[in-house]
Amino acid sequence: VTRVAICGIRGRMGQTLLRLARERGDMEVAGGIDRLDDAKPGTQDALRIVSIANCAQVLGDSDVLIDFSAAAATRELLEHAAGPLNGRALVVGTTGLDAATEEALDELSRTAAVLTAANFSLGVNLLLGLTTRVAAALDAESFDIEIVEAHHRRKTDAPSGTALALAEAAARGREESLSDLRRDGRSGDTGERPVGEIGLHAVRGGGVTGEHRVLFLGERERVELAHEALDRSVFGEGALHAARWLHGRRPGRYTMQHVLGF
Ligand code: NAD
Repeated sequence: VTRVAICGIRGRMGQTLLRLARERGDMEVAGGIDRLDDAKPGTQDALRIVSIANCAQVLGDSDVLIDFSAAAATRELLEHAAGPLNGRALVVGTTGLDAATEEALDELSRTAAVLTAANFSLGVNLLLGLTTRVAAALDAESFDIEIVEAHHRRKTDAPSGTALALAEAAARGREESLSDLRRDGRSGDTGERPVGEIGLHAVRGGGVTGEHRVLFLGERERVELAHEALDRSVFGEGALHAARWLHGRRPGRYTMQHVLGF
């Protein structure tokens, strides 16, 4: 049995993870971490919920910590959880992490198994590999790459972590660095499109669970790779699969490519 703790347990993904983990026979939920600044008591049907500052209380009884919270919360979590996570494992699904948080994750990976993914769905991870291959096959002079994503109106970061991961996968296929090619949206007097640029566009509204489209636009033909998540439990199932896989692994940094084998 893998004992998991969930950070962001009161959120949309946290609640999905709690439900899915309880449905599995090979997992136990040891406790949750979330904001406790409201009047609600720190429990949910007898489950212990603590603040980030007190995370050691639940991490002591857990094998894997799963974090789907917010970028600022993940940064704070790493300050408090690094000690208790020694020899254990961390799965991070939170998106929009800054460079300092990425560094803290690298540091933690010397003493704990750390897996991060902007998207835990099987289909998107397949799409990442395909994007690199198509970008390598269709040269930059002839095919322009644009990435369009759509998400529900409550999402607070843009472009999505998945769109950025797709852009990185495309840049890798072109053997370039994304920071040299990235263009977030267009407006006003933009001038002609530079060769090799990778455009990112974010649509927000309604209840869209998550859509990503990678366009390879040529003068006379176009290729599109597209993915649509129909239900957020696809991310939860992937994250729990990753947590199970990570349990007992050696310290280091892992991705869904390691878990899925492609
Ligand atoms: P949400 O807003 O519904 O839930 C976030 C939870 O984190 C809330 O319960 C909130 O109280 C808690 N939280 C925020 N700041 C906190 C703090 N400082 N201390 C303690 N708790 C804090 O969001 P959501 O839709 O569940 O998404 C959560 C994250 O997961 C986002 O970053 C989102 O982009 C990401 N996400 C990733 C994937 C993936 O496959 N990797 C899929 C869906 C969502």
